[in-house]
Amino acid sequence: MRRITVFGSTGSIGCSTLDLVARRPDAFRVVALTGGANIARLAAQARATRAEVAVTADPVRLGELRDALAGSGVEAAAGPEALLEAARRPADWIMSAIVGAAGLAPGLAALEQGTTLALANKESLVCAGPLLLGTAQAHGAKILPVDSEHSAVFQALIGEDAAAVERVVITASGGAFRDWPLERLARATPAEAATHPNWDMGQRITIDSASMFNKALELIETKEFFGIPADRIEALIHPESLIHAMVGFNDGALMAHVGPPDMRHAIGFALNWPERRRLPVERLDFARIGQLTFRAADEGRYPALRLARQVMGEGGLSGAAFNAAKERALDHFVAGRMGFLQMADLVERVLNKMSSDRLGTPVPTLDMVRDADARARSLADEHLGALTA
Ligand code: NDP
Repeated sequence: MRRITVFGSTGSIGCSTLDLVARRPDAFRVVALTGGANIARLAAQARATRAEVAVTADPVRLGELRDALAGSGVEAAAGPEALLEAARRPADWIMSAIVGAAGLAPGLAALEQGTTLALANKESLVCAGPLLLGTAQAHGAKILPVDSEHSAVFQALIGEDAAAVERVVITASGGAFRDWPLERLARATPAEAATHPNWDMGQRITIDSASMFNKALELIETKEFFGIPADRIEALIHPESLIHAMVGFNDGALMAHVGPPDMRHAIGFALNWPERRRLPVERLDFARIGQLTFRAADEGRYPALRLARQVMGEGGLSGAAFNAAKERALDHFVAGRMGFLQMADLVERVLNKMSSDRLGTPVPTLDMVRDADARARSLADEHLGALTA
């Protein structure tokens, strides 16, 4: 039996992971499940899987979690230290699906036990790619990408020589506003941005898809994870979301990964790796689909993509600053404190303000990443007033 832990089990990726785990109850034993505010779901998951421990990130909710688990035999714990303790409990496979930079420290702690880390939390790679990969290498751990585009690239590269890669194309659905005229975007509301045409995901990544900040993170993630130079990585709008990524080789061949927009594909690949097993995902019928369409991802319309190029050029701590400013801009947008298009303006201001902070350190430590993250968040709050005045 494989011992597994799921960070962010109450979220979209976490629930899909547990859906796959529940289909093979004899294959897995659940060590730890973690969530945030959704105590009822966390407790129900922990009872159903007979997890050893359930952890909420929020210390104030410990009593509520204890009550919800009463009589179940599942331990209850809360807070950042409890998350790290859960990451250190021996497990053969750990899913990293907390949203945001909060996923970094538990991911690093998991890697330190030399496990296999299925990485949905792209923010970890954006904030601290060299630190994450270096920690995995130092402890003999394996990182498997779970983002659908990166799982696709990973699969296209199996048995290939990375030196023969000429380009990587990651696709983007275009999100909720792909067909909206630019002038209407300024008035877009959080509720409108949180509706995705193809994928069923958490609220934050769905809004990031509409603004293309999600794709910006993924461009950086591609560079960090696969070590592909920035000028060989492209984003392409593909409204059907069936091709997830393409890898082009130096003989002109392109290997495309095609599949339905269902995250259980990429999660299941990572869960079963290095084997392939049957997954409960739709089988595509190309005769019925008829055609696939593509259009260029315009960096004028999507400034997040231009900012991603700036970050990839600078490296070091600029990814941590970019991600933190983006997370804060998203908080402000969701709270109605600024407009949709102002998110990119705010992130750009923070990046420019921090460009004198020696962001280009090659392998930042966790403390350096935390400092850059905190400074970017406070600058984002400071600049909010100027932007909305
Ligand atoms: P959700 O918002 O659906 O879930 C996030 C999870 O993280 C929940 O379990 C939530 O708990 C928990 N959480 C929130 N804040 C904190 C915190 N500060 N500390 C610890 N735990 C916290 O997100 P998704 O599942 O959509 O995304 C998870 C990650 O996977 C993200 O990094 C995202 O970019 C990535 N990803 C997601 C995809 C998708 O299809 N959803 C596709 C590819 C990548 P609670 O809900 O109980 O508060």
